[in-house]
Amino acid sequence: MTKLVIIGGGPAGNACATYAARFGADVVMIEDQIIGGAAHLLDCVPSKAMIATGGAMAFLRRSKGMGLEDVEPHIDPDALRTRLADIQSRLRDSSTSLLGSQGVRIVYGRGSLLDEHRVMAVCDDGTEEIFEADMIVLSTGSRPRIPEWADIDQNRILSTRDAYPPPEIPEHLVVIGSGVTGVEFVHMFNSFGSDVTLIVSRQQVLPGKDPEVAAVLEENFLERGVKLLKGARATSIDTTADGVTVNCDDGRVVAGSHALLAIGSVPNSDGLGLENAGVDTKWGYVEIDGDCRSSVPHIFAAGDLSGKLPLSSVASMQGRKIAETLMGRATHGHNRVDYDKAASAIFTEPEIADVGLAEADAFSIGRKVRVTKVPFTTSAKALINDDPRGFIKIISDPATGEVLGGSIVGRHAAELISVLSLAVTASLTVRDVYDSLLVHPTLSELLSDAAE
Ligand SMILES: Cc1cc2nc3c(=O)[nH]c(=O)nc-3n(C[C@H](O)[C@H](O)[C@H](O)COP(=O)(O)OP(=O)(O)OC[C@H]3O[C@@H](n4cnc5c(N)ncnc54)[C@H](O)[C@@H]3O)c2cc1C
Repeated sequence: MTKLVIIGGGPAGNACATYAARFGADVVMIEDQIIGGAAHLLDCVPSKAMIATGGAMAFLRRSKGMGLEDVEPHIDPDALRTRLADIQSRLRDSSTSLLGSQGVRIVYGRGSLLDEHRVMAVCDDGTEEIFEADMIVLSTGSRPRIPEWADIDQNRILSTRDAYPPPEIPEHLVVIGSGVTGVEFVHMFNSFGSDVTLIVSRQQVLPGKDPEVAAVLEENFLERGVKLLKGARATSIDTTADGVTVNCDDGRVVAGSHALLAIGSVPNSDGLGLENAGVDTKWGYVEIDGDCRSSVPHIFAAGDLSGKLPLSSVASMQGRKIAETLMGRATHGHNRVDYDKAASAIFTEPEIADVGLAEADAFSIGRKVRVTKVPFTTSAKALINDDPRGFIKIISDPATGEVLGGSIVGRHAAELISVLSLAVTASLTVRDVYDSLLVHPTLSELLSDAAE
């Protein structure tokens, strides 16, 4: 029986453990904190749960548009904390019982490599256990990057992990970093009623995203009173009697009640004993090949630690593919993760989602594409929802009609993108999408309109 030891029980480790055990491996998973990982405890799930609460508040504020009387909702931080804890414990329980039902042994403690085939767990009660392994999977994730000039005090100066919710809802939050995480926190706290200033190091929020998409978000932020400080980099944060001041490299100074850093992440590779087994790293990330194998053939890495796309969905997919590979279940041609086809979303208002080839990328590589676009204003359902913001854009091959990518900005974009995701993965054509008989009235109908 293949002996598999996994270090880290986030989406990558979980998926790998479940599938490998189902395929017949003897699996031990070592987890330091919570089954479900940082994704469930600290990042993905709590942030989306807070955004959902903010979304409910925004919806109530717009209730006049639905033919109701105006409502001004107020946030209850304690109730919100209880809600987050409840979601986390339910997810933890369902993951733990799934792993248990597959016969996975969970060891709570800190794992590290002693050599190529031995893993040590230092358990929560101080005991040590050593496991012999035929195969090892490293999936320890990442944590927020904190520069040396930022002294996180979890009170006024926060990392993203201190904001679920912070001790008090900020009166004026200064968010540093305008990538996906930064803009989601801007949206979240602005929905709760905080004034927000966003420090944007370039001239566009969401650097690297389709400028047309980023422009819609910027416009929405400005309408909501969010201040954008463009072309500025924060260099230090001072605490004052009643808040903070953030100093920027161009001399500008922003005062607020709280500051939140969202400037990327660093891998959890320190203390993992990678050097004991000869596992190669680059900038702390474990270097992997197309099968998620490290420089040591029986040691794999998945999730954020592998330095590929830092998404929960990608982490789970890598975990599953590793299980298939190491248990000899890989189907030829289907066992590699195609990172270029990963759908991703930004949970702002409006939501933003995309998959596959972006229009700007096609342009920069000189690839001829057909771009079709429809606005939400043409959708009956969008008007029924009283939310006609946004558009759907499909990128296809002009010769074959194959769907190469797409972007959606608007309500439920993160759900709607699944159709384009399936089309991109299965090489469907715009004709296939157009010919699908969809439900009326729905937002999905816009997908077939955009494929026309
Ligand atoms: C604010 C925020 C919001 C996000 N929102 C989304 C989203 O909406 N959608 C999405 O797809 N992605 C989202 N992400 C990204 C997503 O959270 C990560 O890509 C995902 O968590 C990576 O999964 P993982 O399995 O690599 O590791 P993690 O989820 O980080 O889990 C790793 C686990 O390993 C454990 N561990 C670490 N070191 C050791 C050790 N030595 N021994 C034992 N255990 C150890 C940790 O305790 C942790 O439980 C978000 C990230 C952030 C920061």
